[in-house]
Amino acid sequence: MKRYSAFAVARQALSHHMGWERAWASPEPKKKYDAIIIGAGGHGLATAYYLGKNHGLKNVAILEKGWLGGGNTGRNTTIIRSNYLQDPSAAMYEKARSLYETLSQDLNYNIMFSPRGVIMLAQTQHEVRGYERTAHANALQGVKTEFISPARVKELCPIINLDGPRYPVLGGLWQSRGGTARHDAVAWGYARACSDMGMHVIQKCDVTGIRSENGKVAGVTTSRGDIDCDKLGIVVAGHSGHLAGMAGFRLPIESVALQALVSEPIKPCMDVVVMANTVHGYMSQSDKGEMVIGGGTDGYNNYTQRGSFHHIEETVRALIETFPMVSRLKMLRQWGGIVDVTGDRSPILSKTPLENCFINCGWGTGGFKAIPGSGWGFAELMAKGYSPLCAEFGLDRFTEGRFIDESVAAGVAH
Ligand SMILES: Cc1cc2nc3c(=O)[nH]c(=O)nc-3n(C[C@H](O)[C@H](O)[C@H](O)COP(=O)(O)OP(=O)(O)OC[C@H]3O[C@@H](n4cnc5c(N)ncnc54)[C@H](O)[C@@H]3O)c2cc1C
Repeated sequence: MKRYSAFAVARQALSHHMGWERAWASPEPKKKYDAIIIGAGGHGLATAYYLGKNHGLKNVAILEKGWLGGGNTGRNTTIIRSNYLQDPSAAMYEKARSLYETLSQDLNYNIMFSPRGVIMLAQTQHEVRGYERTAHANALQGVKTEFISPARVKELCPIINLDGPRYPVLGGLWQSRGGTARHDAVAWGYARACSDMGMHVIQKCDVTGIRSENGKVAGVTTSRGDIDCDKLGIVVAGHSGHLAGMAGFRLPIESVALQALVSEPIKPCMDVVVMANTVHGYMSQSDKGEMVIGGGTDGYNNYTQRGSFHHIEETVRALIETFPMVSRLKMLRQWGGIVDVTGDRSPILSKTPLENCFINCGWGTGGFKAIPGSGWGFAELMAKGYSPLCAEFGLDRFTEGRFIDESVAAGVAH
């Protein structure tokens, strides 16, 4: 694969940009691979990439029932932060955040990482105590965050209303190296790098069954025929329960729709990400000028990747208290994705009852930020059978009662 560079752009300009090669190949499936990853979202693609890059395993296929990044990876609001409370989470999310810092160079693909800073507003005394506690925990974990005053919040985000009618802003948890990245570029960049290593990224390939023999996976049944493998990774976010069912085990997961919306583009007015978890809305501004807005999950389990009016009403009503200027914005479009939520709001990166089958899921409303770290750790787990980064996130924690409670960091946030 030819490298992207300023020189390549200039050379292509001479031929009206008609000479670019396809970013990734679309091969026919082989009969067998060393490893199959089900799901070409960010986590599946990153897993395949680090299997090849860190462990030399390149005879790998990534099977996707729809199109690349068409699940939650291309539907999220792109917030990246690592200000979690528990040590295993901070290690995982900070590994991911630090990999994001140089991911464009690593993949030779501009993922537009923008460490513009993230504020999580404290709007009740309970939140003040929770975020102060998180800031102390982060200091011990080596994650740079600080609890800031209302005046500093206003300085960082002048359009904010500190004296909301219900909940005044009492401070905030500030992570200056948090931010955003272009979500589909993350999927495209990993896919291009996987393809470059000779891996097969196979779109429109729906996995409809998992075949096992003597407690081991033999292969998968797909809409494009049977494919055998030595190792299987299931990385399908909101469809994890369904795929686990095919493999014969159950997961402590709920699938639920999470929605987002964007406004018409306006001039730059906000250069940080702000999350208001008490009123339950968050907002950032895209490079195009649209205000990117999200809120909570739907209050009922479902598999619809659609928006709905109740969500617009609830989320925009919440945000108008914090950002009165929102009341004058026209909304452009709205969508939804199916997220997979666990009881302790932490992910599952685990072995399964089938010897050579592994599962990566449960990222809920906040897995975009974790993609590089999750791929790094899960690839190690698949290649070696153990990964220090994933050790605490096994399925056994639900039977042993070792929950990783992230309800403050991830219960309502993204
Ligand atoms: C509206 C919204 C806002 C969000 N905001 C944020 C945010 O700001 N920050 C953040 O960190 N996270 C956010 N998230 C969460 C984040 O998007 C997800 O945690 C993350 O993208 C999950 O990635 P994934 O690769 O596991 O799943 P996905 O990207 O969903 O990929 C799974 C893939 O598996 C495929 N698949 C499913 N079943 C099969 C099958 N049978 N055969 C083959 N393929 C199959 C799907 O088609 C899909 O492409 C948000 C999510 C949503 C929906």
